[in-house]
Amino acid sequence: MTVSDQTAIPFNRTHVSDNELDYLTQAVRQGNTCGDGPFTRRATQLIGEITGARQVLLTTSCTHALEMSAILLDLEPGDEVIVPSFTFMSTANAYALRGAVPVFVDCRPDTLNLDERLVEAAITDRTRAIVVVHYAGVGCAMDALCALAERHGLAIVEDNAHGLGGSYRDRPLGSFGRMATQSFHETKNVQCGEGGALLLNDADLAERAEIIREKGTDRGRFFRGQVDKYRWVDIGSSYLPSDVLAAQLTSQLESFDKIQLRRLSVWDAYHAELADWAAGNGISQPTVPTGCAHPAHLYYLLLPDLDNRQAFIAHLAAQGVRAAFHYQPLHTSPAGERYGRPAPGGCPVTEQIADRLVRLPLFADLDEARLARVIDAVRSYEVR
Ligand SMILES: *Cc1c(COP(=O)(O)O)cnc(C)c1O
Repeated sequence: MTVSDQTAIPFNRTHVSDNELDYLTQAVRQGNTCGDGPFTRRATQLIGEITGARQVLLTTSCTHALEMSAILLDLEPGDEVIVPSFTFMSTANAYALRGAVPVFVDCRPDTLNLDERLVEAAITDRTRAIVVVHYAGVGCAMDALCALAERHGLAIVEDNAHGLGGSYRDRPLGSFGRMATQSFHETKNVQCGEGGALLLNDADLAERAEIIREKGTDRGRFFRGQVDKYRWVDIGSSYLPSDVLAAQLTSQLESFDKIQLRRLSVWDAYHAELADWAAGNGISQPTVPTGCAHPAHLYYLLLPDLDNRQAFIAHLAAQGVRAAFHYQPLHTSPAGERYGRPAPGGCPVTEQIADRLVRLPLFADLDEARLARVIDAVRSYEVR
């Protein structure tokens, strides 16, 4: 078969779970399409079961959950928040929006997570929080990071967009930070197009988080009959998603085990079947330290350099396989330079990794035949 006979294998394709269309119909028919309806309650409960968080608030995105975390931290202009440079921009943007300065710390060359050994040198008397991202759902060194945060009186926020269902030393990701955030964007393991959640592990934040999410009002207390009218009591915004989106998300969360089973099997196949080819070509596969169980959010390879990375993506495209790269370092991005600064020593590993990383197609509906095609296409590349 020639390439033109085959349809290209996309980088990502959304999975439609068993009850998805039924639940969407129900949500529309029930006539309750605004936020905090029955599907929101069900989705919230399921997220709590997976993450072990004390309290879960469904939000319109992970970006918005991060913005809520920034309001809850009571940041003042000039306060500093430690963030990785190797992440999605929302991780830093949320704090810059409050006038805080994102201080960019480099990543570890093995897990690509925030390098815990570099964090202490980035702490100043303005530092208020450490934001960690569990890259690819592989847990950061939370033992060391939690001890450091405790010693310096800093809050930890986990941007757990990749890590739903992952764990670190048998504890779910999302349960370590004072707060954690999830994403249900189309590209994540479980999705409703655009969506997210804020997880709270500190009971003191509960009441204020509810107010911030409801436009700065005490509407939650009003609905529970605790006050006789609701008023504007704090700053906030509209961070709650429609119950229609929650209906789609509920069906996805109910299919979580099934989605995960397939994603993990694709991840394991890449890891085993590309090992010899990778070793022979000086290409690195992902590192998963002992004690970390990851949810197969993404599978990446590190090519030797930018030229090989670009040639590899073009080689796969010519065989009908779509691969992708990310992230552009935040400390050298236009907004990162304007609103943040790199920690002492800069972020040399991030700069290198950003040029070398490729992500392979990974989605629940990738069948065996197409998986084999991706593996063949990858193995037919020779490093130059
Ligand atoms: C996807 C992602 C986000 C943003 O999620 P949205 O729900 O699209 O706002 C934030 N951080 C990381 C690490 C992500 O991967």
